[in-house]
Amino acid sequence: MDLGIKGRLAIVCASSKGLGFGCAEELAANGVNLVMNARSEELLKSSAAHLRDTYGVEVTAVATDITTPEGRAAVLDGAAGRTVDILVNNAGGPPPGDFRDWEREDWMGAVNSNMLTPIELIKAVIDPMIDQRFGRIVNITSGSVRNPIPQLGMSNGARAGLTGFVAGLARQVAQHNVTINNLLPGQFDTDRISSLFEAAASKAGKEAAEIRAAAEAANPCHRIGHIKEFGHACAYLCSAHSGYMVGQNLLIDGGVFNSSF
Ligand code: NAP
Repeated sequence: MDLGIKGRLAIVCASSKGLGFGCAEELAANGVNLVMNARSEELLKSSAAHLRDTYGVEVTAVATDITTPEGRAAVLDGAAGRTVDILVNNAGGPPPGDFRDWEREDWMGAVNSNMLTPIELIKAVIDPMIDQRFGRIVNITSGSVRNPIPQLGMSNGARAGLTGFVAGLARQVAQHNVTINNLLPGQFDTDRISSLFEAAASKAGKEAAEIRAAAEAANPCHRIGHIKEFGHACAYLCSAHSGYMVGQNLLIDGGVFNSSF
């Protein structure tokens, strides 16, 4: 299917690897020019070069921390005055732990990264999207928004705040062909999930491979998700054909969350 977004410009935050990279790659495969971002310059540059060379799209790489005001300004500058047609919000997730050990500054970090940063970026790009009657905003949140993960309390909480905010905003801007939707990953094969498996293993006195095998066995697909599968869903939500998908929370978890709808 032609997604109808060839030549559009997307900012994909936190995209040198993992789910952000999966989204950037599928957008590039559909002819979308990119502003990519991550903190570590070396990997970001090589990921950007790979997409530029493979798909022949323009890619600007901005190595900065997206959770800071300066970082967001630098990423927005990467658009070089062009209207941002597509925004994919992403950042690192909060650490696991017991809420008794978290201080106010830990919570502020999670709220800043996983709620306020995406809201600031939405605020920066949305009015020009409205003016041109096209905009697609996708927030990478987590399956924990629907199915809370006990050891990821800061993720459960901060991302729920973002979800509530965009549920309202999405319905205010849909009339202008600007959509905001959330993608909720379950367990995908990335460095983040490996480090969570390692943390769970050391807590339980087991090997990470054992924790991973148990997660795979518990999933109806009997496997962990691939970032390409995530990227395809993101590309559809960013497509010209998704204008009637408004304020949705699309859970992609292999069916592990057991419910009828
Ligand atoms: P990942 O493989 O560790 O990749 C994270 C990416 O984000 C990297 O490119 C990293 O590069 C970049 N990044 C992290 N913090 C950043 C910051 N402050 N500013 C700019 N870039 C930053 O992680 P992932 O698995 O793709 O996870 C992405 C998001 O989805 C996280 O919020 C995670 O909690 C959430 N999630 C993941 C899963 C899963 O199964 N993988 C499940 C549920 C939710 P640098 O380190 O160089 O900055």
